[in-house]
Amino acid sequence: MEKWPIGIFTSVGAGLGAGLDTVKSLGVHTVQVHAPHEPDRAPDRVAQFRQQFADAGIQVTVVFAGFPGESYADIPTVQKTIGLVPPGPRAERLKETKAISDFAHALGCEALGMHIGFVPEDASDPNYAGVVKAAQEVCDYCKQNGQRFHLETGQEKADVLLRFFNDVGRDNLAINFDPANLILYGTDEPIPALRSVGRYVKSVHCKDAKRKPDVGGGWAGVEVALGQGDVNMELFLRTLKEIGYFGPLTIEREISGEQQKKDIAEAIGLLQRLRTEILG
Ligand code: MG
Repeated sequence: MEKWPIGIFTSVGAGLGAGLDTVKSLGVHTVQVHAPHEPDRAPDRVAQFRQQFADAGIQVTVVFAGFPGESYADIPTVQKTIGLVPPGPRAERLKETKAISDFAHALGCEALGMHIGFVPEDASDPNYAGVVKAAQEVCDYCKQNGQRFHLETGQEKADVLLRFFNDVGRDNLAINFDPANLILYGTDEPIPALRSVGRYVKSVHCKDAKRKPDVGGGWAGVEVALGQGDVNMELFLRTLKEIGYFGPLTIEREISGEQQKKDIAEAIGLLQRLRTEILG
């Protein structure tokens, strides 16, 4: 694979990603896919998806799991509803995660991604051990499918994430680094955080956000088109080079419709220009 191929975060039925038509019309050949709901993961549908991606010459690099009942309405709601951290739906979601791992495997994809939720900062939190155990269970299942398990960053500080990796202790646990999330959640400075967790980064989201102190709902910023926020995309890419990451640069733009397509097209132009400048 060429270094830093451009990618797009996409959806086939569920989630906020761009559609396959957008990906094709923009001439992009790697995607991350938000997993569709259960009926669309049936074998005949998987075969159709696989064919569609193959026909378009598109490689699926990460399949992202999402669950019914999740909401990003505001930060307290994220803490209560997202991923494997809330104990209530955990068993059900672990079951679904395994089904999505199988779906990804059937698509020929070597990584399962997820917002696992807010990992407790305090390792003595009564919920911490359960989250570690859940992550181990997912890693072990993914391993049988020849996959890594990528945690989306943003909801915890780099040092919390590093301790969590140590406690989970699985060599197929990895990071999908999303620099904008650190701004949106007000968690950490994106570039120093990338340097600290760099050895675990196996995929990235090229997403931008602008810091604003009073967005409401606890949000510390707003998502904006790539290059228009506070991430500093040039420094982000230079730091990816520094940590030795040359995998896909997957653009994520969390709006829909024509504006999403336009912003993604401009993001591709920006990343291509920076890639040439930095890698030659
Ligand atoms: Mg993201």
